[in-house]
Amino acid sequence: MKNIIIAIDGPAASGKSSTAKRVAQQLGYVHVDTGAMYRAIALKALRLGITADNVDAIDAMTRSTTVRLEYDQEKKLHVMLDDADVSEEIRMPDVSNAASAISAVPAVRELLVREQRAMGTAGGLVLDGRDIGTVVFPNADVKIFMVADAYERAVRRAKELEDKGIHADIYALEREIMERDKNDSTRAHSPLKKADDAFVIDTTRLTIEEQTAFILSKAKERIG
Ligand code: C5P
Repeated sequence: MKNIIIAIDGPAASGKSSTAKRVAQQLGYVHVDTGAMYRAIALKALRLGITADNVDAIDAMTRSTTVRLEYDQEKKLHVMLDDADVSEEIRMPDVSNAASAISAVPAVRELLVREQRAMGTAGGLVLDGRDIGTVVFPNADVKIFMVADAYERAVRRAKELEDKGIHADIYALEREIMERDKNDSTRAHSPLKKADDAFVIDTTRLTIEEQTAFILSKAKERIG
């Protein structure tokens, strides 16, 4: 059986990560949440008080930083920043905004793209992010571009936060999501953009099972 690479890109909170995780589980593949890696770098910058416009300080910080994804026995993903588990902290809303700003810095992208490509040498990966099908793995076997209505995305994100005991205003989240999409789509390096050969899935009215089934059917055609 062929071990393929599945790239899932799309705007913030469109359902990429939860769908990628399920697809990976079904295929026995590894799920690479690349957004989590940008979030880890952003968390470190926030802790050090470095802002995204201070490119020299970010370059220096990046050189002495490691970001790794590790999987425990239950296959749960742990995001390791300089060998410390930051899986929970990186989900906080202030980290989302900082990640969007810092991910525009070329040195940050170079570090993380190198790491992501190294994970993909043997295939068997489902990666989700913004630039997977366009930059990280332009030859990915299956490319998906996942979109959803901004208000619906805000509702989903609010629910995720609510489950963690964090109350968030839906309209504030919607504004934050739209702002992030704008930053991510208009940056000079590796902007959020649909690859020409990607399938578009609008998840506004789809269930996670339907999204997963669609991607699995495309994956199975390629696996043979
Ligand atoms: O996917 P998630 O919302 O966790 O990503 C956080 C931020 O990281 C995004 O808003 C985006 O700016 C950045 N990112 C990126 N390239 C990726 C994945 C995420 O620039 N491949």
